[in-house]
Amino acid sequence: MAGVSYPYPYEAPVSQNLFDRASLVTPGGVNSPVRAFRAVGGTPRFMVSGTGPYLTDADGREYVDLVCSWGPMILGHSHPAVIEAVQAAVSRGTSFGTPGEGEVALAEEIVARIEPVEQVRLVSSGTEATMSAIRLARGFTGRAKIVKFAGCYHGHVDALLASAGSGLATFALPDTPGVTGAQAGDTIVLPYNDLEAVRAAFAAHPGEIACVITEAAPGNMGVVTPGEGFNQGLADLCRANGALYISDEVMTGFRTSRAGWFGVDGVTPDLMTFGKVMGGGFPAAAFGGRADVMGHLAPVGPVYQAGTLSGNPIATAAGLAQLRLLDAAAYEKVDAVSAEIQGLVTAALRKEGVAHRLQTASNMFSVFFTEDEVRNYDDAKKQESFRFTGFFHSMLAQGVYLPPSSFESWFVSTAHDERAIERIAAALPAAARAAAEATPEATA
Ligand code: PLP
Repeated sequence: MAGVSYPYPYEAPVSQNLFDRASLVTPGGVNSPVRAFRAVGGTPRFMVSGTGPYLTDADGREYVDLVCSWGPMILGHSHPAVIEAVQAAVSRGTSFGTPGEGEVALAEEIVARIEPVEQVRLVSSGTEATMSAIRLARGFTGRAKIVKFAGCYHGHVDALLASAGSGLATFALPDTPGVTGAQAGDTIVLPYNDLEAVRAAFAAHPGEIACVITEAAPGNMGVVTPGEGFNQGLADLCRANGALYISDEVMTGFRTSRAGWFGVDGVTPDLMTFGKVMGGGFPAAAFGGRADVMGHLAPVGPVYQAGTLSGNPIATAAGLAQLRLLDAAAYEKVDAVSAEIQGLVTAALRKEGVAHRLQTASNMFSVFFTEDEVRNYDDAKKQESFRFTGFFHSMLAQGVYLPPSSFESWFVSTAHDERAIERIAAALPAAARAAAEATPEATA
């Protein structure tokens, strides 16, 4: 792969044809932007099947999957127990618009695993979960303002699509056309890992802040570990100021441990949000927490929230089957796979003298192309992303599918076996060389 030039000289004609067709009928050819490879260039691979740690694309090429559907597939693809549960559920019907036992069982499983969750409401996406949690926090406290952190992603909720750069208690400008100043105007965006900024925001807006929402351990600016005492500090500041602390565990929930990031740092939030792993590859998500707060939701309370497909019987069957297989041994395996891949990546990049920093949150990890510690979004943006482009395309060409952006976490599963890891190990030397040889101009 030495002397690579871009676009990368390899073809994916069937994917290209599908992408051309898709681009005519769907904006950018994709149904979620990061799938479009805009950050790295090239043709997105259209996948047709997945088994264990592998994906197969429309051109018949097999990849070791280090995206795992952006987190959900913690048991790998097509796990027999999940498929069996789905098939059994499908055979009974696909949606009833009534309560069903699957929803109860999934809610019980979540409540049993995560101590601060006394009650939970099922929804269909992480976006819905965070949107609903914020509405509930506002309804419960009777306050309008919310605090979020730059670089934390909580789905495409209007009020949360604001990151507004650094600076103390910066009032957010919407990040995207279509979000009005009014929708984002009550959002205060602060630098991550900066408790002083949170303290100052509470001091500047006494009695006005409904909640602080944070990723339990951020994975959406690459993986940035919360500093010692940061999450506890948020919980304490919220309590002292009559605001709710919302821990967004859509990504970390049921992945970073049996009880998600709560199982790692033990900090008790008022509300939590979940998605990804709990749906087993289907659209199931949730928000939950203190029973007195959840009691403000309709139909018992005044805060409205609803969903035609919430608690869908197939999604809940898949999620429950997956969660039931996630015992201590499963997390040990995911952690071990993650550690092994991290070691291989670091060794390969070091050998080529590529400045990098591997950051972790339990078994979630990402590679920043910088030597410096990344503690917030501004730090993350200082990395040499052009090196990732070379690295990514080399791995792709050698049959390893990485997240197509240097600002994302990598995800592994219990299904990543020795053969899959050997494929990664074999691909890394050339990818590290491509990263070393990459120049900003080559990707411009
Ligand atoms: N919260 C976090 C931390 C996420 O990582 C995501 C998605 O990646 C969301 C919320 C939104 O979830 P969804 O894409 O299911 O709407």
